[in-house]
Order: sequence, then C-alpha cells, then structure tokens
Amino acid sequence: MSVRVRMAPSPTGLPHIGNVRTALFNWLFARHEGGEFLLRIENTDVGREVAAAVDQIQESFRWLGLDWDGAVTFTLDRLERHQKVARELLAAGNAYEDEGAIRFRMPDEGVTAWDDLVRGRIEYPNEKVHDVVLLRSDGRPTYNFATPIDDVDDRITHVIRGDDHIPNTPAQLQILAALGLDAPVYGHLPQVHGEDGRRLSKRHGAVSVEDFRVQGYLPEALFNYLALLGWSYDDRTTIMSRDELVERFTVERLGASPAVFDYQKLAWMNGVYLRALSPEEYADRLVAYLREREIDWDEELVRRAAPLVQDKIAKLGDFPEFAGFLFRDVEPDPALLDGGGAMLAGAREVLSGVEPFAAEPIEAALRGLAERLELKPRQAFQPIRVAVTGSKVSPGLFESLELLGRDTSLARIEAARRALR
Ligand code: GLU
Repeated sequence: MSVRVRMAPSPTGLPHIGNVRTALFNWLFARHEGGEFLLRIENTDVGREVAAAVDQIQESFRWLGLDWDGAVTFTLDRLERHQKVARELLAAGNAYEDEGAIRFRMPDEGVTAWDDLVRGRIEYPNEKVHDVVLLRSDGRPTYNFATPIDDVDDRITHVIRGDDHIPNTPAQLQILAALGLDAPVYGHLPQVHGEDGRRLSKRHGAVSVEDFRVQGYLPEALFNYLALLGWSYDDRTTIMSRDELVERFTVERLGASPAVFDYQKLAWMNGVYLRALSPEEYADRLVAYLREREIDWDEELVRRAAPLVQDKIAKLGDFPEFAGFLFRDVEPDPALLDGGGAMLAGAREVLSGVEPFAAEPIEAALRGLAERLELKPRQAFQPIRVAVTGSKVSPGLFESLELLGRDTSLARIEAARRALR
C-alpha cells in the first residue's frame, strides 16, 4: 500500500509556520515513500472562512515547493456524503438528535487507544470525550465528523498533524469504528514554541510563510530550517538540500518534544544559502525580491551592487537598508561626521582627480590622503563613509564610491562638509 497523506488546513488566514512545518513533514514523508500528498481545505467552519486564505495557503505551499497531488478539494463539497453517513449512524443508534443537531454516541467507559506514529501508544479515557456533534442544526458537518470520513474516502494512510488534535482523535476513531471503516495511522507532532516555551506567535517574530518571504528569506533555507523543527537526520547535519531531505526523511526520527523556533539560527542558515548562490543567481534573486516588494530601483545598479552585499547580509530584506544609499539621498547624522572636516575637504580634492573613478585608484587616493593627514585609516574613512552612505555600516567604501559615481560622491562629501560648519 503506498503512502497517501494530506494536509487539511482551515482557511482562516495566513497559515501559521507550525502548520506549514506539519505540511512539510507530510510532504517529505510522501516524497520519500514515492506516495502522494493531498491538499484538502477543511472549510467546515465557514463562519471563519477568509476568502483570500485559500489562495494564501496555496501560495505559501507553492513558494516553499510543497507541491500537492491532484486538485485541491474542499470538505464542504462533500456535504451530501457527510449527511448520508450521519443518517446511517442515526439509524444504527450510534448517534442521536439533540436540538436539531446530530450527536455521536461516544462510549462512556473504557479507553480509545492507538499507536501513534510519533508518540507511541496513546490511551485516552472515553469519559473525557463528550458526545461530539456530527451535523449542526443547519446540516453542516463538524471538523471531527467530516475529517475522518474524508480521510477514509481519500484513502489516506497516515494522518500526521499537530498534537493539539490528540483530544480529537478518540472521537474520530470511534466514528470510523462505528461505521466499520479502517482508520489511518495517526501521528501527532509537537508544537512549535518560541524561546520562552510558549506557542510561537507574533510576539516572537514572523509566524507566517508570507512574513518570512517579505523579510527576504530564501524558500530553500526556510524549507531546510523547518525540516529540523522536530526532525533530525543525525543530530549533527544542518544544511540539507530538498533532495537530500527527501532521501533522508523517515518518520522514525520525528521527535515528540516541542520544537523551539530559533530566529537567529534561521538567519544564519539563510546567510549560508545566500552566500552559496553563484553571483548571477544571487543578483537574479535580489532583483526578483525587490520587484516583488515593489521597489523599483535601477536594475543594473542593483546587479552591480549585488557582489558587494552577498557576503554581508543574511536576508535579502536587509538590502534596502544596507545599500539604499546607492538609490536615494542620504541624511547623515552630523554627530557622526565630527572631526572629519580635514578628511572631507581633502577627499573632495583627491576624488576630483582620480582616474578612472574605480575602487582601486579611489582606495589608493584616500589612503594617501589619510597618511598625509596622519590619520589611521579607520578613523579617516568613517566621515567619508557616513557622508556618502549615511551610515557607519555599509558595503565596502571604495566599491560604494565607484558605484555611486564621481558626481554624486563629491556632492555628498561637499554636503557633509557644509553640515559640519
Ligand atoms: N483543520 C485542522 C487544522 O488545521 C486539520 C487537522 C487535521 O489535520 O486533522 O488544524
């Protein structure tokens, strides 16, 4: 029997990174086993449906490369099937009517047990499970009813989902048992926490794929990082490509304790992926990123600036701040220029004559000037850096001057010199 898994997200907004991580494990499992990964929108709670959410879920999955097999399906499209099954349960005495709704008759005693793929044997006392509603009075099925039916109809072999669904599993198993249907294997993944041990939320930082995308993470880096949130290959290896992950993924190495989302580690990993790109690929990604963010800076200049930043920024989203001085005016803080008067005046002189206006001769000219003024290079270059980039932190100064060009460089140095007076 080949593996068939599914993701059944509710369309209630941007998918939370914890759910995306769950989707990713399902996807890896399916691809590793040569099986199938289905996407079913679990829209039983239409009151909460956000029209755009269905698109957002698909867009997030697509961007990360979580391709699904077949068409997206929607739980409520199978309403008639759910209603028919509810009537069967009613007729067999496994369900009863209650104020217009239909409720499942859950056993009062004993336990419902299953061998959880992640947690091992789980035994859940039936007395803790109430008689769940199958159909609401308006005829709509509930999540707990529709989902096990859909899973069986979709021939799902393994249901891998968050461990917040452990309390739902007994009712789902009992419903299938009452219908004489074989249940899939269930596996419940630990939650994703912030460093303070609480469920990851906006308080901690980005929580949706879209947030990470906007910040300039690469999908392959986020993919790699998410794969390590609750799974490991050998407790050592961190950088793994999509293909390597597909090849190495096994459910046996899924962990049961909460995974902590470490934003710094993700940023580090993103930097590793960024630096590993070829210069052309890097420039392409940068251009595409800026376009997506609707930043319409001169493409050629972006491409020329790309090699200056590739080793320096951990996310593409840092580019506008780090290299924005190439594309827009700067307003240097005069306090940072303090003591730079002689150097600024001298720089204006020597840079007027540098030929060609390129990084190497610029460097030679400025070093010569610093020597003549008996200044240490670091001390000498800071006012120039601040004058032309607006910041103490910038890409290489000489390369930056070259990219800015002589006229702009001189104009900024002159403006800074005046600001000092
Ligand atoms: N709609 C549920 C959720 O997003 C699906 C849970 C399940 O996979 O059964 O949590």
